[in-house]
Amino acid sequence: MAEKNKVFKEGKSSLDKMEKIISLCKRRGFVFQGSEIYGGLAGAYDFGPMGVELLNNIKDFWWKETVHKKSDYYGLDSAMFKHPKVWEASGHIAGFSDPMAECKNCNTRIRVDKELEKIGMTADEKMSEEEINKLFFKNLDKIKCPKCGKTDFTPAKNFNLLIKSNYGDFTDKNTEPVYLPGEACQGIYLNYKNVVDSMHPKIPFGIAQINKAFRNEISPRNFLFRCREFEQADSQYFVRPNENKEKYEEIKKERWQWYLDLGLSEKNLRWKRHDNLVFYAKDAWDIEYNYPTYGFDELEGIHDRSDYDLTQHSKFSGVDLFFNEDGNKFIPWILETSVGLGRIFLAVLSEAYTVEMVDGEERTILKFSKQLAPVKVAFLPLSKKEELTRPTINLFKQMKNKFICQYDETQSIGKRYRRQDEIGTPYCVTFDFESLNDGAVTVRERDTMRQDRVKINNLENYLSEKLIE
Ligand code: ATP
Repeated sequence: MAEKNKVFKEGKSSLDKMEKIISLCKRRGFVFQGSEIYGGLAGAYDFGPMGVELLNNIKDFWWKETVHKKSDYYGLDSAMFKHPKVWEASGHIAGFSDPMAECKNCNTRIRVDKELEKIGMTADEKMSEEEINKLFFKNLDKIKCPKCGKTDFTPAKNFNLLIKSNYGDFTDKNTEPVYLPGEACQGIYLNYKNVVDSMHPKIPFGIAQINKAFRNEISPRNFLFRCREFEQADSQYFVRPNENKEKYEEIKKERWQWYLDLGLSEKNLRWKRHDNLVFYAKDAWDIEYNYPTYGFDELEGIHDRSDYDLTQHSKFSGVDLFFNEDGNKFIPWILETSVGLGRIFLAVLSEAYTVEMVDGEERTILKFSKQLAPVKVAFLPLSKKEELTRPTINLFKQMKNKFICQYDETQSIGKRYRRQDEIGTPYCVTFDFESLNDGAVTVRERDTMRQDRVKINNLENYLSEKLIE
């Protein structure tokens, strides 16, 4: 079972790092292409047995830090479907669009603002179709179709990203469609008054929720980075008018620290300020992550939004959304944080993905923190002989009431260790022939591969201590 020392080395094969991560995700049950047996559905992904555990651990950490550890935040889980007027009030029906052009040769659609960004041109949501097209055609020689490589496009047209449904509509006309949510935060604005009336918070206070969002992205790409269906973790903090600045800076600091506590390294994170703010915004920053292969791109948006959202909903619904503080009535200003869970998931995987050389062979490890690891302990009988499998299964059954465990008896012990390394399991417990005599098992630590002999009657204590270290 001895495994010699290691030297860091990136994998030998020709796949780039992100391709290797994607391949591991499928091979080890983290993420699958949505509707794969039908050829797949672009922009939709399914989280497999390991993926759902990792995703839930990330969500739990977000919820714990954002809601449970705070005394001024309230949790929420709003319905995804909302009254059609919500999206009128929010501006999504009129303005939630991206500029799309089509390759005249092969009909591939491109998102023009992102293509311009790639060549160092800023094209933001404030620009009109005409302005975007001016910039697009001026730089056309530098933009190639990602599929056929030609440079022959239709002019850019704004394409609305909201996805329609026929919710409650039994006609064929669908004149007033109920949209799938383009962003999760609208559910918070809609419930601001309910939370105020039921929980009687003092201002300032926050509301947080994790909910799905759907966008008809022109070119879903980069795995979980840009999907058509994804989940967002949002918080909205309500403050008195003009009391935004200090709290905004505090929230920015907290969110940065949250990523460090999650295990992302500071060198892979950076701030990006929005140059061109929409008219109601006071400030807007993104935290970017340095994804392997893709490079730095937006992970989370932190926005100082003034009273725009509640004013709009007040206007469109006719319902008074003032906050009444001892007779002083005002519409609160909002500080928002919004992040796609898939983008965090991908950052966590990228950070954890490590390839080492051991005894001349590659060892791939997901070096998750113990808190995030999908499986905490694996139970492995040294051989498939019943005298070893039976007591190992008994031990596994006992321990799985306490920790998230796996039992594995297939193939050699070395292969089983490698499989556990690839899903990031911090501890492997091996029951061998000696265990029958000495009542002890071997516990192997993932990162150092150090092996400790531990008495079975002390195993639970040993693992409990190790897992909270
Ligand atoms: P982008 O410029 O990348 O399209 P955005 O600025 O439109 O993003 P927001 O509307 O601010 O994004 O959404 C908040 C967060 O939701 C983003 O920071 C990102 O983490 C996540 N997100 C947005 N669009 C997608 C998507 N298509 N797939 C996965 N996550 C997304």
